[in-house]
Amino acid sequence: MTDPAPATLAPEPLPPETPAAAPILLAAYTPYPFRLDQVSLRFQLDPEATRVHTRLAVTPLTPGAGMHLDGEALKLIALRLDGVALSPADYRLTETGLTLHAAALPEGPFVLETEVEIAPAANTALEGLYMSNGMYCTQCEAEGFRKITYYPDRPDVMARFEVRIEGPQPVLLSNGNPTASGAGWAEWSDPWPKPAYLFALVAGDLRAYPGQFTTASGREVALNIWVRPGDEPRCAFAMGALQRSMAWDERAYGREYDLDIFNIVAVDDFNMGAMENKGLNIFNSKWVLASADTATDFDFERIEGIIAHEYFHNWTGNRITCRDWFQLCLKEGLTVYRDQQFTAEMRSAPVKRIEDVMTLRARQFREDQGPLAHAVRPDSYVEINNFYTATVYEKGAEIIGMLKLLVGDDLYRKALDLYFERHDGEAATIEDWLKVFEDATGRDLAQFKRWYTDAGTPRLTVEEAYEAGTYSLTFTQSTPPTPGQTEKPARVIPIAMGLLSPNGDEVLPTQVLEMTEAQQRFDFPGLASRPIPSLLRGFSAPVVLERPSTAAERAFLLAHDTDPFTRWEAGRQLARSALMAMVGGADPEAEHLAAIGRLLADESLDPAFRALCLRLPGEEEIAQALFEAGQTPDPDAIHGARGRLLRAMAGAHEEVLMATYTAMAVPGDYLPDAASAGKRALRLAALVLLTRLDAGARAQKLFDAADNMTESLGALACLVEAGAAETALAAFKNRWQHDRLVMDKWFTVQLASAAPYAAAKRAEALAALPEFDWKNPNRFRALMGGLSGNHAGFHHRSGAGYRFYADWLIKMDAHNPQTAARMSTVFETWQRYDPARQALAQAELARIRAVPGLSRDMGEMVDRLAKPRA
Ligand code: ZN
Repeated sequence: MTDPAPATLAPEPLPPETPAAAPILLAAYTPYPFRLDQVSLRFQLDPEATRVHTRLAVTPLTPGAGMHLDGEALKLIALRLDGVALSPADYRLTETGLTLHAAALPEGPFVLETEVEIAPAANTALEGLYMSNGMYCTQCEAEGFRKITYYPDRPDVMARFEVRIEGPQPVLLSNGNPTASGAGWAEWSDPWPKPAYLFALVAGDLRAYPGQFTTASGREVALNIWVRPGDEPRCAFAMGALQRSMAWDERAYGREYDLDIFNIVAVDDFNMGAMENKGLNIFNSKWVLASADTATDFDFERIEGIIAHEYFHNWTGNRITCRDWFQLCLKEGLTVYRDQQFTAEMRSAPVKRIEDVMTLRARQFREDQGPLAHAVRPDSYVEINNFYTATVYEKGAEIIGMLKLLVGDDLYRKALDLYFERHDGEAATIEDWLKVFEDATGRDLAQFKRWYTDAGTPRLTVEEAYEAGTYSLTFTQSTPPTPGQTEKPARVIPIAMGLLSPNGDEVLPTQVLEMTEAQQRFDFPGLASRPIPSLLRGFSAPVVLERPSTAAERAFLLAHDTDPFTRWEAGRQLARSALMAMVGGADPEAEHLAAIGRLLADESLDPAFRALCLRLPGEEEIAQALFEAGQTPDPDAIHGARGRLLRAMAGAHEEVLMATYTAMAVPGDYLPDAASAGKRALRLAALVLLTRLDAGARAQKLFDAADNMTESLGALACLVEAGAAETALAAFKNRWQHDRLVMDKWFTVQLASAAPYAAAKRAEALAALPEFDWKNPNRFRALMGGLSGNHAGFHHRSGAGYRFYADWLIKMDAHNPQTAARMSTVFETWQRYDPARQALAQAELARIRAVPGLSRDMGEMVDRLAKPRA
């Protein structure tokens, strides 16, 4: 099996006229004509020449079918069927796979063996088997397994895997339970059938941070977080989060863990956040490692949420997986929804809901507004990696929330129980998912399904009337066209609402209106006076609610609404319209300033909630709102207006802000709990405002004294904003230059808050530093994300931001297409801006498109981005 490859095994090149970017269609799905009864893999690890021996026990399901195995960048060494080498006439080998002709296959079960050679050290795309800091690791979702061996790399082919790893590394890990090991080898066996995208292998000099969990039925599970030597002290929080997740999934969904061991590995070079491989989750080290002095409150909350997310995938994703990649939201939307529920329970539910809505609007509404808009379940794609989007994840989660609201908590649980019972061990579809709800509740969900198939954010307008004690609300829904979808029929929209009397009492507690028509009226009789409506409580549907309102009414709701979301929303709208008016030259809105004063003084409110209300909408949000309102956003004017409003707020409330800043200091050792984090958030929100008055004096003091990363970085951001950060930036770098995760923050903070005219220049200077290890995705994203997070800087009229970005996307694309393509979404808003900016952005997109050898990933993104608005 180790002879050099005979010439006939060399791949046959694809004919040059083959279109490289033909779309894959949902409608073209056909089942795989073979079943895999057992998969055995043997790895002989070597950086330049790893050997992978694969043994597949196969049962044909459809007589006369040929067998296609995906494979990319593999050197085929040997190929045998039932122990006999196949002859070149029996198969066809191309750049994308291996097809065994039907005539060469027996009618009954057979064993197929392949041996291939791969080069993990040369794998810069971080997909398949690759190396990070001398350690071997894998990333197979979505289609990376085909870079490891020839295999039907599609999620509906589920099989039991046995793995043997041979290598000198002290730690050799794979999925399932360990079965045997010795010096230089280890064997693993995974009893649960799984698709290849959940395969994982890790080999390296790693240290374990151990833990333990006893499941509800008494199964003892060994837990480990595997890290580089020296990182063990930063694992305790993640381990606690894992244990809390395991207990929560038993309590909330009745889901128990199903192996003897659960391993998490932290990897420095990773394209995404983390990956739910069966029994062997692989994490970007950024979302595992945490200590008070290196991680912020935000990091702690995210780590807890991502640990939970990947753990929850064990049932929603792994035990029940997706039939094909069009069904990605089946596992991702549901798992995001579950991790949101978990965080809401672990921390503050209202605060979590507000944060989630802010993220949804910033990322998903933005996506829906531009050329990349797509359905939660798309029906075509070129490169599936480009569809791990806010729409699939976040809007996918909103759909689950709407379903739960419509059917109620008990029937939701009943439907989920049925889902787990009916589809365990299967690869399912959105149709299967909805059927479970129809069967458990007796509802017809045909119209509801449009949330999955129709792209775009519905607009909801409202007309009100009050006559003879009856108040009525008439809602009208409409969804603007999106690329490839012009017709948008009415959807089911659950509208949670309540009514308040003018003296602030709630006269109608929360109820859910079920809107199914394009226009629909709801009447509320028996009211003594015209009520004030509180609409879309808890943000009950992912829609844009357009209801003209006065500043006075918004201030009233901010003061009196009983629903924390709509209460915050009223304040947000107050701030947003004040800012939008100021962009047009208006003065600060008195009603808004007064409301902020009342809010600051109200100590009955959760500090985290006050912090959320105090923080102004970002410049990007204002640009989005102006565009939505039919205007052309001017980034400089927005930046200027926001600065003026911050100064006005600070000037109007200096005393109470100083008092708040002092009162919110958290004494004692740093703890990452929600209550302490809320106080720090309010303290920093006050500091942002005070910095507008003291040019950074207070921020400098906090920076010098801080004993935790939240305050240190928060103070540093204020100093950058004030243009007084050079000393602090140098000190920060000096202290943290050996810490990769903290240095990422250093790169980001000075760009995100830099003056607009200086941002691109600063980015260029930072990119020239030896510390800018651009091949590391975290470092690349830290710098690029810092620049694109600076709205007025990125969109500067010079075009320097666009140019800098395009230069680096081109460079990264040749190295790591997935990470490059993902970052290209910064260009999704170009059509909002003035013709001069549009021309500059278009020129950069055209420049990227013209690069010879551009990846399929980037090619698809740029083609979609460049399309004029639907
Ligand atoms: Zn996920």
